[in-house]
Amino acid sequence: MSVQPGSDGVPATESADVVVIGGNLLGAMAAIMLARRGVKTVVLEGRPEGREQKVVVGEAITEGSSVFLRHEIGLTDWLMKNCFRKFGFDFLTLPRGGQPVQSFEDCHELMLSTLPLERIPSAFRNLIPTFHVERTSMNRHLVEMSQAEGADYRYGAHVEHVALNEHAQAGGQPHEVRYTRDGEARRIRCRWVVDCSGRRTLLSRQLGLYRQVTSELDTASVWNRFSGVSADPAIWRGFHGIDRRKHTVHMTGPGFWIWWIHQREDLTSVGISWDNERYQPDIKTEDRGFWEMMSKFPPVLEVLRDAQAREPYQYYAHLPYQSERWIGEEGYTIVGDAAWFTDALYSIGIETGCRQLVMGIPMIVAAARGGMPDRAEIAELNQEFQICQRSVLELNRFKYKHAWGSAPTLFQTAVYELGEIAELYYLRNKADWRPDELQKHYRLQWHCPVRRQKLLDFLAASEAAIDLEPQPGAGLMKKALLPSRAAYTATWPLWQTRRGLPRFFQLVRSWAYSERLAQSRRLWPDVLGWMATSPHAVPAFGPPLSAHQKAQTRRREAAGPVHGHADQSGMAP
Ligand SMILES: Cc1cc2nc3c(=O)[nH]c(=O)nc-3n(C[C@H](O)[C@H](O)[C@H](O)COP(=O)(O)OP(=O)(O)OC[C@H]3O[C@@H](n4cnc5c(N)ncnc54)[C@H](O)[C@@H]3O)c2cc1C
Repeated sequence: MSVQPGSDGVPATESADVVVIGGNLLGAMAAIMLARRGVKTVVLEGRPEGREQKVVVGEAITEGSSVFLRHEIGLTDWLMKNCFRKFGFDFLTLPRGGQPVQSFEDCHELMLSTLPLERIPSAFRNLIPTFHVERTSMNRHLVEMSQAEGADYRYGAHVEHVALNEHAQAGGQPHEVRYTRDGEARRIRCRWVVDCSGRRTLLSRQLGLYRQVTSELDTASVWNRFSGVSADPAIWRGFHGIDRRKHTVHMTGPGFWIWWIHQREDLTSVGISWDNERYQPDIKTEDRGFWEMMSKFPPVLEVLRDAQAREPYQYYAHLPYQSERWIGEEGYTIVGDAAWFTDALYSIGIETGCRQLVMGIPMIVAAARGGMPDRAEIAELNQEFQICQRSVLELNRFKYKHAWGSAPTLFQTAVYELGEIAELYYLRNKADWRPDELQKHYRLQWHCPVRRQKLLDFLAASEAAIDLEPQPGAGLMKKALLPSRAAYTATWPLWQTRRGLPRFFQLVRSWAYSERLAQSRRLWPDVLGWMATSPHAVPAFGPPLSAHQKAQTRRREAAGPVHGHADQSGMAP
């Protein structure tokens, strides 16, 4: 590659196949994948070495993130050792009509199961493990992995501009990335640029692809991490005696939702997102309106009474934005927060970034080896991304407008997404992490018009059912999607067969649909509601273990804790 000075006289003395801009979570993972495939990769990270990012957020790892982190990146052992293994979700919803609420027991509640999943041996083994992670240590670990794989990772390298050459792929001059390091202006040439600059959205803004979407969804968020939160079992072991802290807890009310992410005994991430049209808290104060917003859900004030904030409160005034394209035939890819953000709900942020890497990296590798990118494929990928962005936006708009304040609507929509999770069960095993399977089951959510239409129909139907809201004074709905031992026993064979588990989740979804019919048309009794609120004790569950399973369990027990901090937290295993 010839080296010529740029117009400002700074020589481009270096070249690489790929330059990754921003080396936090997504940048480090992109570098790992590229370096492993023999692509000469340089990562330019603006922060100096040793300085962590000021904004720490994004700590719930979903099934979709988990399969990627474990199968593609190889992080299973690290996650098991260093992170808190969680088991699904918990939604707590304020009752309508402003009844006074003092404890979680005064709220509607939705969980995955009335049985603690961690106590069901087969569930424990078969579920895709999901986690609450400390992001700074995970990011640091991924950076070290990228270096070990051979990526040239440079701290303190702040990218100012990317000069894309539209003929770079066809043998023309390469792209040029201009950056400063140690006070010096520098340039590096490359065939492909991967932008992982996060909310800085460097390339998307430079190329005019960046769009604010506040006219459609205008939400804000404030959060912190706390030590000294209440661990009182009387508070946390509510509904059927299940320890809520084992889940990602969502506390919701009209136009807002709070996340509660337990990481270990002395560290809990708590934050709230709200609709700016509905609430205007005093964000000029030191706490950025955190406590004002938390007071909308009184029980959370009780659990945070003696808590100490660990850092300054973090705040984003407007959460959602989009990029019109994320991949360009000139030779660029925009990944993670650099491409879009909508809402923290369902932790779709990291997961979408993982999905983008799965779809984008093969094309980058091919280009680095001299291949021409396929225009049709790029157009398709951009179109899918557009559809996905629009759908997620609609979904969140619906949630803020209707569902956060309405228990039945929230339950229906929470259930709907189980279908998306079901797809991931085709990728539970590493052996299934193959291009053909990935294509089928790991594309972006709601990526095709048919799927998007299904989502929109679903939301319209849910909107129509909103009148079903229990009237003030009505009994609380406390529901679990898998209510009782009977559900597990009936579906037991599915848990045992390699291809069976996704069907199990589809059954759950059908169950939930029938529940919706029960609510809206009163076609049959609300069995789920009845079972979930009946005072039956949580039975010890599990069919007899085989000799092999018993030996495995003994070995696991002898080897000590498998879910890191979870076992040090004092919570029951
Ligand atoms: C309130 C909130 C809650 C969330 N909760 C979750 C959750 O529970 N689960 C989940 O999966 N996701 C969650 N997310 C989303 C998740 O945090 C992000 O999707 C993810 O952290 C994005 O990682 P990233 O690597 O793309 O960006 P970042 O982590 O922001 O990294 C960008 C990097 O680029 C560097 N950089 C920027 N500009 C330049 C430049 N010019 N030159 C060089 N380097 C540069 C920065 O220093 C930084 O290191 C949440 C997001 C928010 C806002």
